[in-house]
Amino acid sequence: MEGLERQEGLESREAGGFRERKEPEGSDARVRIPRMRVMAPSDFRPDFDPNVLAAGGGKVPASPAGRYAPSPSGDLHLGNLRTAVLAWLFARHAGYAFRMRVDDIDAQRSSSEAAARQLEDLASVGIDHDGPVTSQQENLNHYATALRKLQAAGLVYECYCSRKDIQEATRAPHARPGIYPGTCRSLNSAERVAARQELREQGRVPALRLAAGVDSWQVKEAFSAKATDGVYRDEVDDMVLRRGGNVMPGCAPGEDGDDGAGGHANDYAYNLAVVVDDALTGVRQVVRGDDLLSSAPRQAYVAHLLGLDPVEYVHVPLVLGPGGKRLAKRDGAVTLRDMDSPVEALRWILDSLGDAVDVARDAVDSLGDAVGVATEHSNDEAYSRDGVDSSVDTGQRGYSSNSAQRILTQALETFDPAKLPREPVWWNGITR
Ligand SMILES: [Zn+2]
Repeated sequence: MEGLERQEGLESREAGGFRERKEPEGSDARVRIPRMRVMAPSDFRPDFDPNVLAAGGGKVPASPAGRYAPSPSGDLHLGNLRTAVLAWLFARHAGYAFRMRVDDIDAQRSSSEAAARQLEDLASVGIDHDGPVTSQQENLNHYATALRKLQAAGLVYECYCSRKDIQEATRAPHARPGIYPGTCRSLNSAERVAARQELREQGRVPALRLAAGVDSWQVKEAFSAKATDGVYRDEVDDMVLRRGGNVMPGCAPGEDGDDGAGGHANDYAYNLAVVVDDALTGVRQVVRGDDLLSSAPRQAYVAHLLGLDPVEYVHVPLVLGPGGKRLAKRDGAVTLRDMDSPVEALRWILDSLGDAVDVARDAVDSLGDAVGVATEHSNDEAYSRDGVDSSVDTGQRGYSSNSAQRILTQALETFDPAKLPREPVWWNGITR
């Protein structure tokens, strides 16, 4: 599992564990069903001030920022790295700070070793960042605060549905595919008590869902071809805010990890977490793979309900492997560690940006010389000029991340987002 796939995996679990399928264009399958009215006005905006919530009580950096936030479940591949380079370029081009965050909300699939390797790889292709690396596991108390705000506004309800329940419900004649039909929203309190008890006997606790007051929401989308006039609109449903699941073993009421119902206090959904994370670090611009485009309106709606400023999205095409599916490890040598040097990856990424950047091929190739990679433009003088003034030890490759940073800086100086290809990028192996 790669970073971006991981994130998508989380997305697909939002609605209770079933995979969302988008209907093809022009499909008439999405018949709207009347929705239960929300218990609170749809425009209710609880007062959620990230400055107050900042860790340690300190002020959050006010400067607007972009970010990259990989999920540490394995090494980043070229597609992830390309997106990271683009996130860096877009942020720096806008004059924003650039934040780095480890999206480890799924603790079971995350490891600090993977996170360290990802950060090392990002540094070795020249990506720097402002401020400390943060992580979702550090922000759990902030997710709890955000959830309480929504609960206080009457916008959260318990969902007792199993994965199977939801699959069956979404197959019903008038269901919107992939959209939670609100089964548990209208239960009365007696029904809730019974359903909660039934789950409890199975050793499980309910999920918590947002009582959405809208069917769709729009976001500012600066790049995707699916946006119209810089605006993208998509469905919003009663998304999961905190997952249900098995009662945490040995967790007694009041203990750390207990949510008051004997459940998973910390199993927050990505759609809630990401919104809070971004607000805490002043993120105004989110650049990521376009597999996450359809989840942007959900996240923006949650941000709206929390009274947070909307972010601007830039969803960039995924890199596709030789088979036309998204690049994955099955496609061969696709991580930095599979390659002779990060230079190969950097060269490929810059080439893939087409006319959006103008970096002399010689400059990149001379970087290759610095790590002894055979290139067609071998040039020892360039190597000695470049030196090995590494500020980041990138392992045994004897490679200077400062040199890569200089290349990225050149790319930034010439970066023209309007010239960035909108089509998916194909990867067919590295050619030197
Ligand atoms: Zn339900």
